[in-house]
Amino acid sequence: MNSNCVSKENQCSINLAENECSDGMCCFTCVIPPDNAHIGFFKAFWKSGTGASCIKMLIMSEGYKNELYDSCKFLDFLIYKNGTDSDLKMDLRCCVYGSRPKQCADYPDRAGESLYKKISGPCIFNEYTAPSTYKKLVYKREWQAYYAIQDNIDILSNIFVNLDASAGRELLLKANGVYIATVSVGNTEKDYILIPINKQAQKVLYTSEKHQPIVSIRQAYERWEEKIQRNLQNHYGKDWETKLKSAVEMEEKDAGKRCNEDAACNTKC
Ligand code: SF4
Repeated sequence: MNSNCVSKENQCSINLAENECSDGMCCFTCVIPPDNAHIGFFKAFWKSGTGASCIKMLIMSEGYKNELYDSCKFLDFLIYKNGTDSDLKMDLRCCVYGSRPKQCADYPDRAGESLYKKISGPCIFNEYTAPSTYKKLVYKREWQAYYAIQDNIDILSNIFVNLDASAGRELLLKANGVYIATVSVGNTEKDYILIPINKQAQKVLYTSEKHQPIVSIRQAYERWEEKIQRNLQNHYGKDWETKLKSAVEMEEKDAGKRCNEDAACNTKC
């Protein structure tokens, strides 16, 4: 992947809208089977969302190959100017929300479940925003996620709500962390505008008791034991329990150390 950085004068910011499901990460990865088979026969008659085919989710992690995910055909991806200031909001929504399939409607309470597997787990956004100790143990790596929009004015004109496509593109490229990169898709290379997905969990509304941020390995394991155990067994084989135990101990020791430092600072200050 080649990246073309642009100068960032008059920088602005871009954040997820504070709406239900506004991160939409599951509509790129975990909920949808190939070719949107979950929608069934009628999918051919329904209009596609603005995110279909031209917006992807790019996952990058040091030392690993980039991963690129297509969005569901019915994902609407919208960017709009937030009032009078120069900041932008992006909103990812299902354009067949009222008729969405059961596996989408049940998400995230039954995240990771399928017809054949009953193992549920944390949703992808919560894993993305989890502490690095959790990701290093459960996935053996950390990762950064981006929305990747094909840099094409016709595509951009479908995405911007209250901005003309050229003005919107210019503003978008000034946003914090946004840059253009050439990404290989199959045998072709295309320019994409990469928008980092920020990890501000409080910006996304939680819709259920289960759909809560991951704060520690112990808390996540108590809630999602079966799913996490499966990952650990895949990564560490018969040593998985030892790895889990020492990661929890280390995490709790570090948290205790931080508390003591804070308490010492409060006494002195
Ligand atoms: S049908 Fe709707 S909720 Fe389900 S994956 Fe597609 S966009 Fe997301």
